[in-house]
Amino acid sequence: MTYTIEKVTTLIGARRYGDRDANVGFLLTDSRSLCFPEETLFFALKSQRNDGHNYIPELYRRGVRNFVVADVPAGYAVDYPEANFLRVVNTLEALQRLAERHRDEFNIPIVGITGSNGKTMVKEWLYQLFSPGLHVTRSPRSYNSQIGVPLSVWLMDEQTQVGIFEAGISEPGEMLALRDIIQPTIAVLTNLGAAHQENFDSMEDKCREKLMLFHDAETVVYHADDENVARVVAEFRSKGERLCWSTQDRRAPLFVKSVAKGEGSTTVTYIYKGGAEASYSIPFIDDASIVNSIVCAAVALHLGLDARQLAERMPQLEPVAMRLEVKEGRHGCTLINDSYNSDINSLDIALDFMNRRPDHKGRRRTLILSDIFQSGDEPERLYKEVSDLARKRGVVKFIGIGPVLSAHADEIQLSEKFFFSTVESFIRSEVFRSLRDEVILLKGARQFGFDRITELLVQKVHETVLEVNLNAVVKNLNHYRSFMHPETKLVCMIKADAYGAGSIEIAKTLQDHRVDYLAVAVADEGAMLRGNGITSNIMIMNPELSAFKTMFDYDLEPEVYSFRLLDALIRAAEKEGITGYPVHVKLDTGMHRLGFDPEHDMDELIGRLHRQNAIIPRSVFSHFVGADSDGFDEFSARQFQLFDKASRRLQAAFDHKILRHIDNSAGIEHFPERQLDMCRLGLGLYGIDSRDNSIINNVSTLKTTILQLREVKAGDTVGYSRKGAIARDSLIAAIPIGYADGLNRHLGNRRGYCLVNGQRAEYVGNICMDVAMIDVTGIACQEGDSVEIFGDHLPVTELSTALDTIPYEVLTGISNRVKRVYFQD
Ligand SMILES: *Cc1c(COP(=O)(O)O)cnc(C)c1O
Repeated sequence: MTYTIEKVTTLIGARRYGDRDANVGFLLTDSRSLCFPEETLFFALKSQRNDGHNYIPELYRRGVRNFVVADVPAGYAVDYPEANFLRVVNTLEALQRLAERHRDEFNIPIVGITGSNGKTMVKEWLYQLFSPGLHVTRSPRSYNSQIGVPLSVWLMDEQTQVGIFEAGISEPGEMLALRDIIQPTIAVLTNLGAAHQENFDSMEDKCREKLMLFHDAETVVYHADDENVARVVAEFRSKGERLCWSTQDRRAPLFVKSVAKGEGSTTVTYIYKGGAEASYSIPFIDDASIVNSIVCAAVALHLGLDARQLAERMPQLEPVAMRLEVKEGRHGCTLINDSYNSDINSLDIALDFMNRRPDHKGRRRTLILSDIFQSGDEPERLYKEVSDLARKRGVVKFIGIGPVLSAHADEIQLSEKFFFSTVESFIRSEVFRSLRDEVILLKGARQFGFDRITELLVQKVHETVLEVNLNAVVKNLNHYRSFMHPETKLVCMIKADAYGAGSIEIAKTLQDHRVDYLAVAVADEGAMLRGNGITSNIMIMNPELSAFKTMFDYDLEPEVYSFRLLDALIRAAEKEGITGYPVHVKLDTGMHRLGFDPEHDMDELIGRLHRQNAIIPRSVFSHFVGADSDGFDEFSARQFQLFDKASRRLQAAFDHKILRHIDNSAGIEHFPERQLDMCRLGLGLYGIDSRDNSIINNVSTLKTTILQLREVKAGDTVGYSRKGAIARDSLIAAIPIGYADGLNRHLGNRRGYCLVNGQRAEYVGNICMDVAMIDVTGIACQEGDSVEIFGDHLPVTELSTALDTIPYEVLTGISNRVKRVYFQD
């Protein structure tokens, strides 16, 4: 479905500059995701930190001709002769308005989903329940923001029979805009949890805001047993039919009579609108899945699925993997595994993700794709679109798996292409054996069993992994940025292998989000990042005298903290014929670790810097001793005074701007008035608030699996030196993680615990080098079950507290042999 540029101009009430004819098919807000320039309409959005207008020259060069702007570039007719500029007051509102008008074109059921958790699962399951018969358009992944929602709604086209969209809010006032864009005929509240509480005064306020979505809906779906929700719905005079569900109230339109959990599946028995008792089963036993399935049942029954269809389709529900996983594979390959549903929108997002990862090892990009099940699309058209996307996103090699793709091999316009009817035939082929030094995106509908490909391609490792959530890293980054002025620069500390999370992938993510500096400990870490495509500025905190050459070769900027280091650095640079090499001057204001003395060294330092031109101070900084504790606030103030005075003296001695910085993570939040020109974000990036040990957005989860279960009788012992005395008959599990992996031995003998299926299991006896034993008496579990050592459900700070240390030590102690697996929602 395309719109002419005239039509768009009218719909958003813009003033048009430029008179070229054009059709708009794609909306773009992030220049990095450009794919089809000719039909793209770019919205130059302004955020606190960034201004889309800055990307207009680049996008024009890349072929984009249509722009929605707040400011028309001066001399546009000369510089952009072929462009149309649509001028509006607020570009975000224009994007939302356009989506709203697009929405008006459709007279079909539109489901709008909000809630604290479960939105994406409900959306995906509804899609799974409906898509055998209906053409559904839904939000890709979790596009549920002020920008994501209009982009999602825009995806509806002539074939769409049902629209399903998520609406997520983090601040008061946001739902109104989302409601106008989605205009749901059926509004769904999944549940109300604690997420985003901080921006709302009370649970009721949050509920009220979310329920704005209900306002003009014909039908509203919610959980009547939740008192907060029921109260707010009651006071809210929405005209819609109240399709609530309850496990207690028989009069509820959807009365859930019983929920019976079995081995790996759950049966829900219900009565819908006083009809006959019916039931369905789902292949899950966790509470969240059960609740979400009930919400889905309400919507599905309302939209005309009958009890028989529900009973047939519910058992087929697939887990919703909202993740793109990055894994190191054999033979120099990197695997990006996207098990999210197979459809063209999520393929585009996954290709964009692959394309954006910088990779300077010159590796080729390969796409392994299964048949796409998307009803309503002609395969010719669909696979031609796949081919276009793949080419534009830099795919070199295409491997298609499935009968439909094989039959449409001609639509794929790539010179290197291979087709197989099944995963087995691919695995047996020469094509599979010859995968080498490639970045491979795997995207397969579940029934094709792409897991087998991944299993064979991934290096076999220890079953213990550290899962790193890259979205959480970005959320934390934004959390801290929210305390900073838009113009304040940011250094992200990724020393110690990014506090254990793995510096390469973290650096790629941070570079993608345009942080100003990355900081590592030693030159080799910096060189390694350069080798992996990191082009950001890199600071070296502990430059070794032996590594100057490496620094010069790789453009790494050292910190200087002493005259000895300063002189050596100047000599080395002069020898290479280098001038004006940027360095970062460290002052010691109280830590008494490294740094020049701000009271006695400044004259000498300025003198020596003036007498040479090999290096140049790019920044000057110091470090707080106790920014993470109120008890040191006075000392911090003294440190700041010392720094402020000495750094001003340094600046006064030079004409060029010298960036001044002192705030670390805790400083950013607690002394925002001391942010100066730049801040240095460390622990906060990894989701930990060092002041109170709370978790902001958890980044790392250390996981392992149960190797073996055994019953041990009362009176017996477990482990070395018979330390683990067993008082009652017990069930003991062995897990493949030990002190050599970074599981501190002091957690043994029941001083610490891990989580097995959500329940606490204490470490029994001494922790061994590679294995630990835990007490799982009374916990329903089996060999092979997953065990969380710390992470999403067990904060790492609980471990550090039990160990009487700081979370930094626990995180950086995870040894290299523990595989890091990265994902993003
Ligand atoms: C590690 C480090 C930081 C980051 O500290 P956090 O407490 O992790 O925020 C900042 N500055 C310097 C000099 C550091 O070494």
